[in-house]
Amino acid sequence: MILVIKNGTVITMDEKRKEKYENLDIVIENDTIIKLEKDYQGKFDKVIDATDKIVMPGLINCHTHLGMSIFRATNDSLNLDDWLNKKIWPIENNMTDDDIYYTSLLSILEMIKTGTTCCADMYFGCLGTLKALKETNFRILFSRCLMDGDTKGEEHLEEFKKLYKNNQTDLIKWAVSLHAFYTCSKEYLKNGSDLSLELGLPLHIHFCENKSEVEGIKKDYGTLSNALESTGLLRNKLLLAHATFLSDDVLNAIKDKDVSLIHNPVSNLNLGCGIANISKYRDYANICLGTDGQGSGNNMNLFYHMSLVDLLQKGLYKDPTIMNSYEVLKMATLNGAKALGLDNEVGSIEIGKKADIIIVSLDNIESYPTVDIINNVVHNTSNINVDTTIINGNVLMEGHELKLDINEDEVKENITSIFKRLDV
Ligand SMILES: [Zn+2]
Repeated sequence: MILVIKNGTVITMDEKRKEKYENLDIVIENDTIIKLEKDYQGKFDKVIDATDKIVMPGLINCHTHLGMSIFRATNDSLNLDDWLNKKIWPIENNMTDDDIYYTSLLSILEMIKTGTTCCADMYFGCLGTLKALKETNFRILFSRCLMDGDTKGEEHLEEFKKLYKNNQTDLIKWAVSLHAFYTCSKEYLKNGSDLSLELGLPLHIHFCENKSEVEGIKKDYGTLSNALESTGLLRNKLLLAHATFLSDDVLNAIKDKDVSLIHNPVSNLNLGCGIANISKYRDYANICLGTDGQGSGNNMNLFYHMSLVDLLQKGLYKDPTIMNSYEVLKMATLNGAKALGLDNEVGSIEIGKKADIIIVSLDNIESYPTVDIINNVVHNTSNINVDTTIINGNVLMEGHELKLDINEDEVKENITSIFKRLDV
């Protein structure tokens, strides 16, 4: 099957190319990009006309909890601790795998419609999420969230191992995901780190999300760097979600290690955590982006979150030169792929890479005119602009129309009955 995307303005995010965008045809054979050239005249089975549209790599959301769509925009006043203890965890205890199938499906549809083609997830009810992933052909770095604060630590580990053994596909890759230092004992963290090394998988964990978490880690481990070192985590390919408050000792400890910091600006603002100083952190680690679940992040439209990343840093430093749109777009594409260990496969439009591509139209009044393409893409794009979404060569949405055998109204009806039953 040869698919050609013709006449688009292509933002390749390939740093080896001279120009940031070029007019190119993209030729895809099955799942792989095989040619990038002007005015392709070879054979094809299907053409998508991208005239006057932007063609770019699909976005990569490095920190999600797909099953949490049920909590979308339900927090207007709680801090992280009260939100988890009083709101989220009591309801999550009553969620079934079937509930999580529908809540995950809603999240995946939201990502497809807003141009995200890959995410990293940690949650529970994984059989439900896996069913939704397989039905939609979505790309993911997946995991079962591990914690031993509730005395079920060993059960979680056994469940993870069984799921991992039976559900590896081209699109479903795995990480070991420890929830956080405040929900995992030192021994459990060490075991998770050992398991991650043994299986050769990245290790994903919430870290330093708010000030009280930082104080708790310091009380237990002395310093933030000792927390990572004494639990063995620095040996791993490590994804630290949030990292809102990193001290110099931990920044020096992660420098030259395989560490990515996942910036979740909306979630951090919504829960009153603060603003991560990523303009400083970028000298010490790979910076990528996440939305977190919709309970704290409100939505999974990574374009909206990207705009905020740029604006927050300029405001924080009172300096408009401290960040720019291209760097933010790189965080949401190439840096994300690198964080997930998928940079040989996705994150940019290059010959040999998998075809995870989106087509964006900026022809609506709110986005018109497009003089500075990358600036406008980062700041003025939403679901109404995302025209087409392709993952692994499969066209999942074209001309705003989902090409999946899924009834959106039925998904919404099921979600409504779930949130009523759970009294969200
Ligand atoms: Zn999270």
